[in-house]
Amino acid sequence: CGVFGIYNHKEAANLTYLGLYALQHRGQESCGIVSSDGLHLHAHKRMGLVADVFGNPAVFKKLPGSAAIGHVRYSTAGASVEKNVQPIMVDYSRGSIAVAHNGNLVNAQILKAELEAYGSIFQTTMDTEIIIHLLAVARTNSLVDRIVEALNRIKGAYCLLFLTKSRMIAVRDPNGFRPLCLGKLGNAWVVASESCALDLIEATFVREIEPGEMVICTRDGGIKSLFPFKKVAPTPCIFEFVYFARPDSQIFGKNVYLIRKELGRQLAREYPVEADVVISVPDSGMPAAMGYAEEAGIPFELGLIRNHYVGRTFIEPAQSIRHFGVKIKLNPVKELLKGKRVVVIDDSIVRGTTSRKIVKMVRQAGATEVHMRISSPPTSYPCYYGIDTPNRKELISSSHTVEEVCRYITADSLGYLSSEGLVEAVGLSNEVCKACFSGAYPIAFPKPMDNNQRE
Ligand code: 5GP
Ligand code: SF4
Ligand code: MG
Repeated sequence: CGVFGIYNHKEAANLTYLGLYALQHRGQESCGIVSSDGLHLHAHKRMGLVADVFGNPAVFKKLPGSAAIGHVRYSTAGASVEKNVQPIMVDYSRGSIAVAHNGNLVNAQILKAELEAYGSIFQTTMDTEIIIHLLAVARTNSLVDRIVEALNRIKGAYCLLFLTKSRMIAVRDPNGFRPLCLGKLGNAWVVASESCALDLIEATFVREIEPGEMVICTRDGGIKSLFPFKKVAPTPCIFEFVYFARPDSQIFGKNVYLIRKELGRQLAREYPVEADVVISVPDSGMPAAMGYAEEAGIPFELGLIRNHYVGRTFIEPAQSIRHFGVKIKLNPVKELLKGKRVVVIDDSIVRGTTSRKIVKMVRQAGATEVHMRISSPPTSYPCYYGIDTPNRKELISSSHTVEEVCRYITADSLGYLSSEGLVEAVGLSNEVCKACFSGAYPIAFPKPMDNNQRE
């Protein structure tokens, strides 16, 4: 998911719309904005893409005020349905509050059972709603104390934006799994999942919000920073660099594009191959393919052309045309691939089904050899911290060796970037989370790992 918030700007909702637009890659299922006019909160949220949900300018008349938070969602906990669209907004005895969440809580089921035993009735199936219920039962008095009290009970990954009629509060979990940055636009403070959202609205990048930090925007135009949680060694998500974040973003102190290119270079050093051309699976494999080609001294070409108008919602109208599958999205440039030994670069193999179709497609286009290179290690474990990987059984690498995966996708050879190579290319001085590759989860689970928490 992606979150965006702005405080103290008269075009708050309009700018949040733009911010969400820049973060669309982080979630395409639904989106929403909640604004504050100083007295009341106002919401507009729906299933669908940002441009569709906010395409009608009349919508912004319903979102007055100088502060707003927004969210783009793809579901990791809770089904993809209307009632689960964020930000969540509630009225309770202490006033109205809205919350937008990127991440995934690992003790959600336990907390939910506990809260229900004391009479809480949940309106959604999202783990985020638990935070609201914890706020309601908190014993402390001030809003900040109540948020801290609530968050001290949750475990997992969270970048949160809270909005009340007078305040905006941003929080990043102590492990710092997901990125969150702070910007300034004139006198307004801006918070966004990725810096590409700041770029779009021409806000200046101030800094990242640190793991375990709480940033409170105050009415005098300042911010207050607190570190109210027990300190732990941060473990930012390495998969943000591999796949999830936008290449023009700066996250965890690094530019994503340059890191992806370096992953490709490192991959070329680890798995070189005699070939005539390097191509990528667009768009996610592109920077790594350019790095691979550069390092290997093999020309890079756009060998697969993507139809940019195919959304995730594309539904084949009849069973009789189902088999077109990936061809709807990708088409090879036959004149380029015919008679060539081709290296195909992608960022990851999840189920293996796409890769298999792509290898076949490249071969049908006339390639004499197809060598698959992946700019991350085998994805063998599901993510429980906010990336929607399928459960363990569906991950081809959880039960198959590299040779078996190679045979399944019908490639002439297959090479994955090593875990050491990945960590070195990313070059962060502190620890990282790479649990989906290693199985070493930085936050333990109260439930057995394969008991899938997703719906
Ligand atoms: P596969 O061959 O496993 O079917 O598909 C691999 C493709 O899925 C890669 O191109 C990769 O970019 C993409 N991918 C990796 N992780 C995710 C994810 O979390 N969500 C989506 N939608 N695609 C992903
Ligand atoms: Fe990121 Fe993988 Fe860790 Fe999930 S398990 S937070 S995707 S590195
Ligand atoms: Mg891809």
